[in-house]
Amino acid sequence: MLAEIQNDLLYLLNILESIEKIKIYSDETGTAEDFYYANDQINFNATLNLLANIGENVKKISVQLKEKKPDVQWQDITDFRNKAVHDYMGLDIYIVFRIIKSDLEPLKKKIFKIISEEIKNNNFNEQELELAKGSFYYRHIPFDRIKEKKGKKKADQFLHPDSTGTRKCPECKGIIKPGETELNYELETISVTVRNVPASVCTKCGRSFIDGHITEDVNRLVNRITEDLNSFTKTHPQIGERRREVAIAV
Ligand SMILES: [Zn+2]
Repeated sequence: MLAEIQNDLLYLLNILESIEKIKIYSDETGTAEDFYYANDQINFNATLNLLANIGENVKKISVQLKEKKPDVQWQDITDFRNKAVHDYMGLDIYIVFRIIKSDLEPLKKKIFKIISEEIKNNNFNEQELELAKGSFYYRHIPFDRIKEKKGKKKADQFLHPDSTGTRKCPECKGIIKPGETELNYELETISVTVRNVPASVCTKCGRSFIDGHITEDVNRLVNRITEDLNSFTKTHPQIGERRREVAIAV
């Protein structure tokens, strides 16, 4: 595995999730003006944030991957981010609208292709992709567009006990024992930490592996907390806009 490229999977997933959210915010609007004025400009401002976030993630992607995939306009994306962050007033709503209506879909297609290829080349970690699939944060990504490796074993099959009843870590081959871990969700207006999540923990590298059904239950819990907190702050406007932090132990 190429160490630098390995980290790029999460940046690409962040970009995909941002693109999907922008699609939700802009789908109903047919013209740049409609989009700009919709919902007291909430959609427009949220979209600018997400575009900046896309640029932020592109900046973090390794030089190796960028050089490997020169057909992606990496520099243009970063340039736009700099403009959106530093020159807000000078932003042209028609350019923003053109970007979201014509540039994001081709970018998305290229990113799905990159992920499929790098999974196949073993440069991206399949276990990481599996975890992302169950994650609340990436809930809008159509993961079925990522082509799976032929003859791929399901990630949790690695964790099945061998003939001696021992389970080995798919990363380092260390021994895996039942334990607990902590899950962190960095959402737009809230960060949620869930402690004491039952997991299989590697005694050598410390990586933890969570069963699919537990991930689903925790996602549902985080979803509910987020919704409740959002409606609470809506009915108590004096609380105002701030980033919220919640920590719970299950
Ligand atoms: Zn390990």
